[in-house]
Amino acid sequence: MSADLTELSAVRLAEIVRSGEAGAEAVALAHFARLERLEPTVKAFLVVTKDRALSQARAVDEKRRKGGALGALAGVPIAIKDNLQVEGVETTCASNILKGHVAAYDATAVARLKAADAVLIGKTNLDEFAMGSSTENSAFQKTTNPWDPARVPGGSSGGSAAAVAARMVPLALGSDTGGSIRQPAAFCGVVGLKPTYGRVSRYGLVAFASSLDQVGPFSRTVADAALALSVIGGRDPMDATSARREPPPAALSVPKDLKGLRVGLPREYFIAGIDPEVETAVRAAVEVLRGLGATIKDVSLPHTKYAVSTYYILAPSEASANLARFDGVRYGASDRTAKTLEESYELTRGGGFGPEVKRRIMLGTYALSSGYYDAYYAKAQRVRTLMAVDFKEAFSEVDLIACPTTPTPPFRFGEKTEDPVAMYLSDVFTIPSNLAGNASLSIPCGLTAAGLPLGLQLISDVFGETKLLSAASAFEAVRPFPALKD
Ligand code: GLN
Repeated sequence: MSADLTELSAVRLAEIVRSGEAGAEAVALAHFARLERLEPTVKAFLVVTKDRALSQARAVDEKRRKGGALGALAGVPIAIKDNLQVEGVETTCASNILKGHVAAYDATAVARLKAADAVLIGKTNLDEFAMGSSTENSAFQKTTNPWDPARVPGGSSGGSAAAVAARMVPLALGSDTGGSIRQPAAFCGVVGLKPTYGRVSRYGLVAFASSLDQVGPFSRTVADAALALSVIGGRDPMDATSARREPPPAALSVPKDLKGLRVGLPREYFIAGIDPEVETAVRAAVEVLRGLGATIKDVSLPHTKYAVSTYYILAPSEASANLARFDGVRYGASDRTAKTLEESYELTRGGGFGPEVKRRIMLGTYALSSGYYDAYYAKAQRVRTLMAVDFKEAFSEVDLIACPTTPTPPFRFGEKTEDPVAMYLSDVFTIPSNLAGNASLSIPCGLTAAGLPLGLQLISDVFGETKLLSAASAFEAVRPFPALKD
């Protein structure tokens, strides 16, 4: 193989490994060579599991030599966000409180990747417990944006997005509770898919807000996202919220046009305050969809203005309950200087959690406390229902919704760290799909004048991934988007 293996898609890599044109070990080594060159600047990984990866790759090659049938992701190098359990490897969620916590089992999504003969390269950096939009809340390191090292990769799955953008891997897993796959995908110029709530098992994903969390892929092509979803999706008896539905097929058929597709532009998403370069690029992308034959019409999602406030009641409430288990007794770090059990909780949690995580625990504990529960939590649940109804009504008129993924291009380090609300507003366009449970994806749609990536967000109704991915692939075939130069 003379072409650089790191330029190939996951679909293509699996093909050449299956056919024997290249071995899984050679594919892994090519990606490690690139990773080792770029990682000192990008800092996408918390741990690189090279020995394990190379022995997995050799096992794939061995299986082929013995005539065994190889899986859908044969020899494809994949990175895993460090809030998903990979047996025998530390899961830290980029938090000091989980340092030293070695996973005792594989998350279902991870187990399915392994069963499909993928090769796991390492665990990627994130905002602590997936709380943030820039990966700056990691307790361990700052991941940089491969398009501009002075800027953030987005978050919370910043490490996974950056690793795919920098071509250290063709595919990575992330999790999306309020935008954590789509927002970093937009910032890093890659494809990021948040599946429908229930499409992918959450078993082995460290819970942030269980009613919003979804696992999904990052890739450089839409077909790779479809392939990954076909492997990780589907019912899992270990997660009662996983749906009894077959995931969409592995091989995506790319429509040659979008005739008959109705695309809605939500009035409430093209608002004052959105960066002019974002708006221009997204409107141009919508013209590309029109040029492919789609019908474009205005729709309204009237409760959009409550999305961020609703999310910042519900997500912290669930987080405050989910994070109660990190008490220094069962997992990871434990303060051994404490004299009493209560003091041990205080010292472990006080020293183990970072400031954003503590802020969320306090917000959530407050919203759930007696006397405030009805005014905050119960009310937010009702608003969440109204937002789901908004989408249902819109999807009775259109097949897909198109809008920006983020209100701004990737920002600089430190730009929003002093102002939590400014950071929270990064997810103003992504949060509604989590609250309603819809599938949505971000696909690169252009660059700013300064050369920074911008994302188009496409949203479908629940379980509309096939329609979503095929429209995105038609757009991808004609969109103007340059490859990252290095
Ligand atoms: N940025 C949002 C938050 O901080 C969303 C994070 C996520 O999707 N995990 O909660």
